[in-house]
Amino acid sequence: TRDCLAEIDGADALGAFVHKTPEIALERAAAADARIKAGEAPDMCGIPVGIKDLFCTKGVASQAASAILEGFTPEYESTVSQNLADDGAVMLGKLNMDEFAMGSSNETSTYGNAVNPWKVDDRDLTPGGSSGGSASAVAADLCLAATGTDTGGSIRQPAAFVGITGLKPTYGRCSRWGVVAFASSLDQAGPMTKSVRDAAIMLQSMAGHDPKDSTSADLALPDFEAALTGDIRGKRIGIPAEYRMDGMPDEIEALWAEGRKMLQDAGAEIVDISLPHTKYALPAYYVVAPAEASSNLARYDGVRYGHRATLAAGDGIEQMYEKTRAQGFGPEVQRRVMIGTYVLSAGFYDAYYNRARKVRALIKKDFEDVFAAGIDAILTPATPSAAFGLGEMADADPVQMYLNDVFTVTVNLAGLPGIAVPTGLDKSGLPLGLQLIGKPWAEDEMLNTAYVLE
Ligand code: GLN
Repeated sequence: TRDCLAEIDGADALGAFVHKTPEIALERAAAADARIKAGEAPDMCGIPVGIKDLFCTKGVASQAASAILEGFTPEYESTVSQNLADDGAVMLGKLNMDEFAMGSSNETSTYGNAVNPWKVDDRDLTPGGSSGGSASAVAADLCLAATGTDTGGSIRQPAAFVGITGLKPTYGRCSRWGVVAFASSLDQAGPMTKSVRDAAIMLQSMAGHDPKDSTSADLALPDFEAALTGDIRGKRIGIPAEYRMDGMPDEIEALWAEGRKMLQDAGAEIVDISLPHTKYALPAYYVVAPAEASSNLARYDGVRYGHRATLAAGDGIEQMYEKTRAQGFGPEVQRRVMIGTYVLSAGFYDAYYNRARKVRALIKKDFEDVFAAGIDAILTPATPSAAFGLGEMADADPVQMYLNDVFTVTVNLAGLPGIAVPTGLDKSGLPLGLQLIGKPWAEDEMLNTAYVLE
């Protein structure tokens, strides 16, 4: 813990930790030592971790990287961070992210962006988003692991951009209680770690039924680490034709081929499959996610949480809402709220939101069909490219940024587990990752297949 705290203090330029909690860390580390000495330590006991700023942590600033939550210190702890703390994990502080987890580059954060520890010709690169601080911190050895959240790819894309493992569990596996809501039907917390084994160990601690979240599944947890046998003989791995995008860089194509070979060499059978509605996933996601976000973000009204605008003489409650929200929300969040309220409005609900919900059901059915036909897991690239330069995309059309999520959003729309595993380097030496998509509640099997790819 002391070594991590020293590393964190020396790494301010990475912008990964936005609230440091050294006193809490040292106290928890001492308590963990005592448990270890007493011989009653769970696997996470004494492990120094970072917590994404989206998780409410009792008595510690939890801002979702938004100016509107400036000064908000929760009175309660999220179930996931509490589960980790109960197992003796040591929180080092809170990690940078895109504002309300909306973004793919960590550049919408009110704290300023986090930086990828990997560089090309001294050019600063994005660690990805929205869990960019988590990715950067784990890759730069500021902590041994971190929590992330994934609504459309926010664990898997940053993991791929910094060369670590990132797991998005089945929807309902980890409690959303105390995690600031972005799009409630898509949000899931998960581990971001240095290895597949670490992901298995950390997921074991984070996951589990929670009566405080009505969508949390009341299912027994498999032993995720015990599942890592490396034996995938006879498993059928699907390769979806629709993920072979036009203009896909050769190196991504080559990485994917390499992944297929690794699984085949380990005794798996590679099967060509079709997920025909894939091309509608991004448009459906960018209707459903903003719709839910616009509803979830209505609670930031200048009264209940954080920031309130200074009012002029004669200003009433309307002006207070308007000024507070105009000052407190950044441009990307405002864009999402506007899109969301538009697609939910009386005149457009059927044309946009309802249609997107129907498309979502078709995307889910595509996956159900291939799993029913005997496919055990699906292998795809994690991202369409390696990490891009800071500022490079943020200044472009927002749709360019949204295209980053092309391989990841389907998993959230279908509620499935997905994992990004670092599997290679691009020609400039930057990490690239592959994604495995598992059957619902089969994180154990998915982890074991990922273990072979590692
Ligand atoms: N990049 C996607 C978005 O901006 C996904 C974000 C996430 O998974 N939280 O919505």
